[in-house]
Amino acid sequence: MVRPTMTEQKQTHAFQAEVARVLGLVINSLYSNKEVFLRELVSNASDAIDKRRFMAISEPALLGDSPLAIRITPDPVAKTLTFSDDGIGMTDEELVQNLGTVAHSGSTDFMDKLKAALDQKSESKEGEDVSLIGQFGVGFYSAYLVANQVDVRTRRAGSEQAFLWSSDAGETYSIEPTTRETPGTDVVLHLKDDQLGLLESYELTRLVKKYSDFVAHPILVATQRDAEDDADTAEEGEESDDGEKSGDKPDELAYEQANSSNALWRRRASEVTDEQYAEFYRHLTHDWEPALARKHFHVEGTQMFSGLLFIPKRPPFDLFSPDQQHGVRLHVKRVFIMDDCEELLPKWLRFVRGVIDSEDLPLNVSRELLQDSRIVKTIRKQVVRRCLDMIEELAATDDYATFWSAYGAVLKEGLHFEPEYADRLAKLVRYETTAQPGLTSLADYVSRMKDGQDAIYYVVGASRATVENAPHLEALKARGYEVLLMVDGVDQWALDGLREFDGKKLLSATDAALDLGESKPTEAEKEELDALLKRFKEALKEHVSEVRLTSRLTDSAACLVSPAGGLPPYMERLLRLQNPDMPIQRRVLELNPTHPIVTGLRDLLRADADDAREAQVKEWIELVHDQALLAEGSPVHDPAKLVQRMTALLSDAVRRATTG
Ligand code: ADP
Repeated sequence: MVRPTMTEQKQTHAFQAEVARVLGLVINSLYSNKEVFLRELVSNASDAIDKRRFMAISEPALLGDSPLAIRITPDPVAKTLTFSDDGIGMTDEELVQNLGTVAHSGSTDFMDKLKAALDQKSESKEGEDVSLIGQFGVGFYSAYLVANQVDVRTRRAGSEQAFLWSSDAGETYSIEPTTRETPGTDVVLHLKDDQLGLLESYELTRLVKKYSDFVAHPILVATQRDAEDDADTAEEGEESDDGEKSGDKPDELAYEQANSSNALWRRRASEVTDEQYAEFYRHLTHDWEPALARKHFHVEGTQMFSGLLFIPKRPPFDLFSPDQQHGVRLHVKRVFIMDDCEELLPKWLRFVRGVIDSEDLPLNVSRELLQDSRIVKTIRKQVVRRCLDMIEELAATDDYATFWSAYGAVLKEGLHFEPEYADRLAKLVRYETTAQPGLTSLADYVSRMKDGQDAIYYVVGASRATVENAPHLEALKARGYEVLLMVDGVDQWALDGLREFDGKKLLSATDAALDLGESKPTEAEKEELDALLKRFKEALKEHVSEVRLTSRLTDSAACLVSPAGGLPPYMERLLRLQNPDMPIQRRVLELNPTHPIVTGLRDLLRADADDAREAQVKEWIELVHDQALLAEGSPVHDPAKLVQRMTALLSDAVRRATTG
C-alpha cells in the first residue's frame, strides 16, 4: 500500500533501539571471518524467490518469463557489491518492518552473545561463530561487516512502485520512492576499504561455492572481464562520472553461474560431502553449531520423496512452549511450499529440522489439504521411521547423552501419544536408577536383573533425592533388585506406552498390588494386630482408604501405596496445581508388622487403656502417617502440629537422657 506522499518524499526513520545496537556491534566488529555475510544475503535472496514462486502458484501473473535468479555484481569503480534477486521484493511498509526492527528484541542474552562473537578475531573458538547473527533473524545486518553503507532498492511483485532504503548504520535509515524495472531486490554494499578483495569475481565465485552451492536458484556472478574494464577506466576517471558509468551499464555484464543449484537433498548421499551438509544445515537453521545427527534418504514406492533431516545440538529456547512452531520445510518437486510443516512430523519429534521434497503432492497444496491428505499421512509415517532410525544410530554413539538431556523428555511424549512406536521408543528411553549414578537403558536394566526377578521395578517422583530412599523400595533393595527412578514430569504419561519390555512387566514400587512373593503376615500376626489396624483406620479415616500389613518394608514402620490405577502422589500434586477441585485420592497405609513402633503400639492397646492413653495412641498413629508422607516426599497435612508432637517427643527423650 503506497501513500501518495511516499511517492514524492524521502523519509527518515529511526531504527528500533535493538537494531541500532546490533548495527553498532556489527559495523565495528573485529571478527575476521566477515565473508559469512554472503551466506546471509544469498539466503535472503533465495527465500525471496521461494516466496514469489509460491505466491505465483495461485497468481501466475506474478511470475515473469525468465527464470528467477540471484545476481552478484561487483563494481570496482563505485566500490560496491550488489546482490540482486528476482524475488518477492518489499513494499515501503515491509522495509520498515523487516529492516528497521528485529523480532527477537529485548534479548540481552542475545546482545551479549552477539557482542562476544563479533569481538572475536577468528572463528577458532567453536560455538561463538558470528553466523549466529542469522540464527537470531538479523542476518541482513551482517552486510555491515563488509560495508559502511547499504542501499536496498526493491519492488514488490504485483506493484509498480519501487523504494530505496539506505543506511550507514547510524541511528536512522531513509526510505524514498524510486524505480526498478522488474520486481525484486538489489542490496548494494558500499564496501569498507579493507574489503575491496570482494570485488574479484573469482573470490565471489569461491565464496558462493563455499556457502551457497546447494541454493536451488541460480547464483550468477558477473565475470571478471567487465569488472576489470571498468576498473581500468576508474583509475583515470573522476568519481562521479565513474559512478554513473557503472550504474548505467549493468546489462553489458556477462554472468556465470557459480553454484550447482542442484537441491542438495535431491542428490545421492554419496555425492554430498560432510562440509556441504554442514553448510546446508547452517543455511536451513542458522544454527552456528554443527548438527548432532543427520539422515538423508530417498523413498520410492507409492510415494516418491526425498528427505534430509537434522537434529540440532542445542534445543530451541521454546521447545516446551505450547505455541512452538515445529515441523520440516516442505517442497513439492523442488518448489518451496512452506516452513514448519507440522503435518509431516509428530509433536514428540518437534526438535527435528530438515526438508521433505515430495513428487506427488500438488503444487497448490494448502494447510487444510495437508491435514487430511492420504499422501501426507504416508509420508509422515516414513519420516517418523527415518527419524527413529537416525536417533537409534545416535544412541550407539557417545553423543546420545547430549541428545537425551536436550530432547529425552520430548521423545518420551511419543510413548503416550503414539503407542504404535512404543517398541522402538522403549529402546531409546533412559532413566535414573538405584543401581548406579547416571542413566540407564531398559536393556541394560534387564541385563542386570537378579535370578528370580521377573519384572522391571520403578518409582515415580519429583527428584532422585525424594524417591531414592522412599520406604517402598526397602524390600526391593533388600533383594538386590534395581529400581528405575522416574523423575521427569512426563514419565507417568510415558508409562502408558511402556507396560512391558523384553517380555518383562514394568511394575510400580508404590503400587498397592505389588507382590514380591514375600512371606505374608501369618494369621496369628494378623489376629494380634487386628485391633491396632482398626485403631489406625479409625484415626486416619479422612486420609486413607485402608490400613493393612505388608511385607514391603524392612526398616520403616509404614508407607502409603496407590490402589490400582491410582496416580503417584507427586503426579497428583502436579495435577492439583492445574485443577484444585480434583478429588483427593485416598491411598492405602501399609504397616510393617515386625517394626518396634507397630508391635509397641499393639502391646499398649492390649493393656488396660484410659482416656489419656487413648489420646496418646491416636497422636502417635497420626505421627506414623505423617512420617509415611514425609518419607515419600509428600507434604504433611498439618506441619505445625507435627512439629509440636516432635518437640514433645524430643523434649521427653532429652530429659530422659539427661536425668537417666
Ligand atoms: P531473517 O531472514 O532471519 O528474517 P534478516 O535480517 O536476514 O532476517 O531479514 C529480515 C527480513 O527482511 C526477512 O525476513 C525478509 O522479510 C526481508 N528481506 C531481507 N532480504 C530480502 C530480500 N532480498 N528480498 C525480500 N525480502 C527481504
